[in-house]
Amino acid sequence: KLVIFWFRRDLRLEDNTGLQQALASGYPVLPMFIFDTEILDRLVNKYDRRVDYIQQALTSVNSALQDAHTALQTYHGKPIEIFEQVTAAYDVQAVYCNKDYEPDAIKRDDTVRNYLLHKNIPFHTYKDHVIFEQSEITKIDGTPYTVYTPYAKKWLSELKPEHYAAKSVDLTPWQKVDHSSIITLADLGFKKTDLTFQAPEIDLNIIMDYDKYRNFPALNRTTHLGIALRFGTISIRKCVAFALQYNATWLSELIWREFFTQILHHFPKVVDTCFKAKYEQINWRNNEHEFELWCKGETGYPIVDAGMRQLNLTGFMHNRVRMVVASFLCKHLLIDWRWGEAYFAEKLDDYDLSANNGNWQWAAGCGCDAAPYFRIFNPTAQTQKFDKDLAYVKTWYPEYDLQLTPPIVDHTFARERALRAYKQALQDT
Ligand code: FAD
Repeated sequence: KLVIFWFRRDLRLEDNTGLQQALASGYPVLPMFIFDTEILDRLVNKYDRRVDYIQQALTSVNSALQDAHTALQTYHGKPIEIFEQVTAAYDVQAVYCNKDYEPDAIKRDDTVRNYLLHKNIPFHTYKDHVIFEQSEITKIDGTPYTVYTPYAKKWLSELKPEHYAAKSVDLTPWQKVDHSSIITLADLGFKKTDLTFQAPEIDLNIIMDYDKYRNFPALNRTTHLGIALRFGTISIRKCVAFALQYNATWLSELIWREFFTQILHHFPKVVDTCFKAKYEQINWRNNEHEFELWCKGETGYPIVDAGMRQLNLTGFMHNRVRMVVASFLCKHLLIDWRWGEAYFAEKLDDYDLSANNGNWQWAAGCGCDAAPYFRIFNPTAQTQKFDKDLAYVKTWYPEYDLQLTPPIVDHTFARERALRAYKQALQDT
């Protein structure tokens, strides 16, 4: 007799709510992970740092488990089929895991829950990925907040030390398995990438001065914890505890993360439609050649091109530059935000559906709490303000030469064109 702990977006042993509960069940715990073919088969490019990251993080979890005289079991297939196998092989008393809030994950979990229910096996899920779930921070009448500032205010007023206290995990009652089955990247049909997994740490030097330096891309003074938060190799409670102690601005970024998580939960239609319906009327130009130039970083706007090159080369782009390139695509080129969102989803190591979607809709002006459509980022002014001596541009686009790269579109012309297109869309409805 045993219980299963199913790792998903919580690839760590410390401060892990579902794991703590599984270990407290009184039964031996079998730790497992499923490489879900329904997700992996959709990734056309088999050089994918996210998959490599997961595989390496699991290897690291496994070596810690081996120190505790057990081992991780990994599987490759559809979750439901894996549960058929596992429940046939073991006398499973219950399955434990942490909640995943994305629409596809909710469907997957419903299928697994129903299957287990049918076999009389309880499926226990826990809040772990966020401090507050979708329905914990709402307006007085119970409806969701759709504007960040009042949401953040309520979030802070509800926060108590128990919300960010670490969950201690007692690593004793494991199921003794004599061998681990860590599936390799090659087994999955993926290639090794340039990524090296390191257990994430919070760099105090960065967060203490986060508010001063975060907007200057050349300084690279943000934490790069996005991927760790995405796959749960770091606990959100730990981050919030540090943020509370050291930097309120950094805390506000963690609240943005939860804001967009609850928006996606309450308004799943945002996955493919504008939060503000009337923005569906925008007559996007959707010029494929210009889109390709944007993707490659060949727009002739140095900050945009440097950003896209950083993304293409490293899987990361500084937040300030993400805002500039996103605004440029939607407003200067009048290309549908969904094209840019999909490109980021393919390229960003820290890709997260709710954050990516929320921020793209913000940049396009069609989001829940978006910048007003008539505020159009001027890439040149942004460069003067945040990369005055072109240190960022030169890092990612060293061969850039002002004389040789005429802009693909004139700023003033593009600005007027965008204003016309947006105004018309908003008038038509
Ligand atoms: P830090 O600045 O150190 O912030 C710490 C953490 O707070 C981040 O890792 C992230 O989890 C969270 N966070 C910070 N800013 C935001 C924000 N605006 N919205 C939601 N969460 C935030 N962030 C993602 O995690 N995944 C995405 O796919 C993503 N796509 C984006 C697309 C666009 C067009 C824009 C403008 C922003 C996007 N962001 C996304 C938000 C932000 O740019 C990144 O979280 C941040 O740059 C990651 O760097 P960092 O880990 O050093 O973050």
